[in-house]
Amino acid sequence: MPRAFNFCAGPATLPEEVLLKAKDELLDWRGLGVSVMEVSHRSKEFMETVDLAESSLRRLLEIPDSYAVLFLQGGASLQFSAIPINFGVNTVADYVHTGHWSEKSIKEAKRFCDVKIVAEINSDDLLRIPAEDTWEYSKNPAYLHLTSNETISGVEFFWTPNCSIPIVADMSSTLLSRPIDVTKYGVIYAGAQKNIGPAGLTILIVRKDLLGNAIESCPSMLNWTVAAENSSMQNTPPTFAIYMAGLVFSWLEEIGGLDVMESINRRKASAIYEFIDKSDFYSNNVEVKNRSLMNVPFRLMNDRLDEKFLEESSSLGLLNLKGHRAIGGMRASIYNAVPEDAVNALISFMSDFEIRYG
Ligand SMILES: *Cc1c(COP(=O)(O)O)cnc(C)c1O
Repeated sequence: MPRAFNFCAGPATLPEEVLLKAKDELLDWRGLGVSVMEVSHRSKEFMETVDLAESSLRRLLEIPDSYAVLFLQGGASLQFSAIPINFGVNTVADYVHTGHWSEKSIKEAKRFCDVKIVAEINSDDLLRIPAEDTWEYSKNPAYLHLTSNETISGVEFFWTPNCSIPIVADMSSTLLSRPIDVTKYGVIYAGAQKNIGPAGLTILIVRKDLLGNAIESCPSMLNWTVAAENSSMQNTPPTFAIYMAGLVFSWLEEIGGLDVMESINRRKASAIYEFIDKSDFYSNNVEVKNRSLMNVPFRLMNDRLDEKFLEESSSLGLLNLKGHRAIGGMRASIYNAVPEDAVNALISFMSDFEIRYG
């Protein structure tokens, strides 16, 4: 059976080269006669793997030394709570509400701080991020939180707000898809299972001067400062996931880095959006300048054809096109590791389906 084209939103497809390398090394890693999953996280070999992964990530994103890179667990979702806790108690925090994941981050933050919504996405037909000049910041917020890419509705920020408070960004489904200016952010975090590696690892990049402010009752395992002081080894880290992420970072560097990745991603995304826009059979409800490069939600003109669409596409090896249960319809997640061939095959199928049922 050849590899299917997998459009899953997460855990998502991994580069074939990375899987083959992991397979090759699985039983005998670095000539040790054991797999990477079976060695101490404090062994010289594993520590080297962590260091290499971190330095590769630093090169890819041009992360300055004034930022710590942490390898955490608990998913992006645990950081929804960790963020207010690490910024200290009794704070006011500003949140931009652009969809499902913003909503979740707001819900958790409200347990620990006074959340102010500075801007909220419209709920009419065409989704668009409100222009920055309409945002209402509160007086003395500890930080501004935003979701750089709403994975479910396919709404993405292509600009960074111009504010003097630290920006905290959930980049779970966009980190590494294109270059970003890390220095514009106080904290960047992402669950690994979209663009980075297997589930179980969460990457957090934090400006070092923001460390040391956690509330006193902060559990050690949620405390970024503890993680930074212990090089993310305060307990057993998700070793296999870190190893895999390291392989993904090397793969990205071999491709030519994030500039090259961005142009490939832009080609993939515009091919699908152009096809959808030309068709009367498919539609996407996100304003053009906010359309995600990673997650393309779309609807069929007649939703009674949804089942048929999913059945036929998966029988052709185009997997996981069903939209999130919260909004229905379809969604093609086209992360870094989804090859251009997959996107072309999807467009051919969509076109053929439209001819037969349109
Ligand atoms: C997937 C996702 C999450 C949730 O990640 P977990 O690692 O499962 O907690 C949060 N935010 C965004 C934007 C996501 O895409």
